[in-house]
Amino acid sequence: MQTSTPVQPNHALTFEALHLAAPILRAIHDAGYDKPTPIQAQAIPLVLQGGDLLAGAQTGTGKTAGFTLPILHLLSQATSKTQTKGRPRCLMLTPTRELAAQIEESVKTYGKYLPLTSMVVFGGVNINPQINRLGKTIDILVATPGRLLDLANQKAIDLSGVEILVLDEADRMLDMGFIHDIKKVLAQLPKQRQNLLFSATFSDEIKRLADQLLTKPGFIEVARRNTASELVEQTVHLVKQAHKSALVSYLIKQNAWEQVLIFTRTKHGANRLAERLIKDGIPAAAIHGNKSQGARTKALADFKDGKIPVLVATDIAARGLDIDQLPQVVNFELPNVPEDYVHRIGRTGRAGSSGAAISLVDFEETKYLKDIEKLIKREIPKVHVEGFEPPTKQEVEPPRPPRPAQGKPRKPMPAQGKSNHGNKPNATSAPNSSARPNANQAKPKPTGFASKANHHNGQRGK
Ligand code: AMP
Repeated sequence: MQTSTPVQPNHALTFEALHLAAPILRAIHDAGYDKPTPIQAQAIPLVLQGGDLLAGAQTGTGKTAGFTLPILHLLSQATSKTQTKGRPRCLMLTPTRELAAQIEESVKTYGKYLPLTSMVVFGGVNINPQINRLGKTIDILVATPGRLLDLANQKAIDLSGVEILVLDEADRMLDMGFIHDIKKVLAQLPKQRQNLLFSATFSDEIKRLADQLLTKPGFIEVARRNTASELVEQTVHLVKQAHKSALVSYLIKQNAWEQVLIFTRTKHGANRLAERLIKDGIPAAAIHGNKSQGARTKALADFKDGKIPVLVATDIAARGLDIDQLPQVVNFELPNVPEDYVHRIGRTGRAGSSGAAISLVDFEETKYLKDIEKLIKREIPKVHVEGFEPPTKQEVEPPRPPRPAQGKPRKPMPAQGKSNHGNKPNATSAPNSSARPNANQAKPKPTGFASKANHHNGQRGK
């Protein structure tokens, strides 16, 4: 991937020093921002110069303002002579509905003193109101790729006037299989335009996309706000899959957690866990791709407002949501991609203070655990809750069949015995005696979650 000379970090101390238009500075002031974040300090001057940009930054770094503020400035400086209905000047593509809605909200917030118009389109909702709205002029369109293509195919939108293209969370868009849709969208854009590509990771696929899309881009990369090795206290509970929901219930009640994001590997798993927690008297909601947009928005709002203490999410649903800086994250299952673990636990920790991430690990998952520990370059401490003993070696490795009589062929050993990579559970002293949660021991005292409104100081509400 060819990039222009590395950009010298410009640690501008104020937004004024970045030469943004006065109405934008006013809106920033209203938002209560004191100074640009590192990604903003670097991205804003580059975008204002009109060049292409490749930026490595994840949600929570302030990247949305990093591209939105200079785009608003550029669009407000040069009014288009060819502004017609349904023909946006800037297109921001992003993978999820939630992220699209959040970005457009930011566009409105930062552009509130400018005469620019914006709109968001995403799937899962009726297309007709979107078609109607596209009958008016729009400066900035925020979209998810699938719905944008639908609208373009129906000729409800004209992409030939796009002066600036943003691909936000490009890595996740590729993960979600949007590459073909993105290519179809790109084919409808004018050749002459400014391109900004944001991605949390730089896989070969992202590099290929960047090569095709960007011309001599400026390159910036900012560190994750939290890294796994720094602020987040991490622990592992070795526990059987079948006992995990009971353990989660127990931990939430025992520790009186008021705001916890729980990751599950599947949508069904998310639903099942949320239902189980509700049965246990813990208000919870699940958020994933099969939920209606209304249900997802409500669950997120209730979680942010402290009305429900527990949000259960799949990786994709949680990706891009502005719900970081949480005190507590639980991995109900370990992700099989170790980088996802780092993404997940990066949600915890408030500015300057620490968060905690607990992973519930069944024996089947020890390989994933090893991979994660290799990635973060350290072993995660194993903790043990009374009544939730890890599976014993005996349970994991069924007893060997009796030795066959001499002369008869031997049966092969069961395959799962091989999955024990030496990571023995730490309570094997009484084989087969105590792998079942002991309901009496584990029974926590109930706590009054529903009555607790949670207003964290460090929580940025939106
Ligand atoms: P983002 O990474 O774009 O999702 O932004 C994460 C959060 O940071 C959002 O809630 C923004 O409102 C907030 N934010 C963005 N820029 C700043 C800033 N310069 N100072 C304080 N907060 C900011």
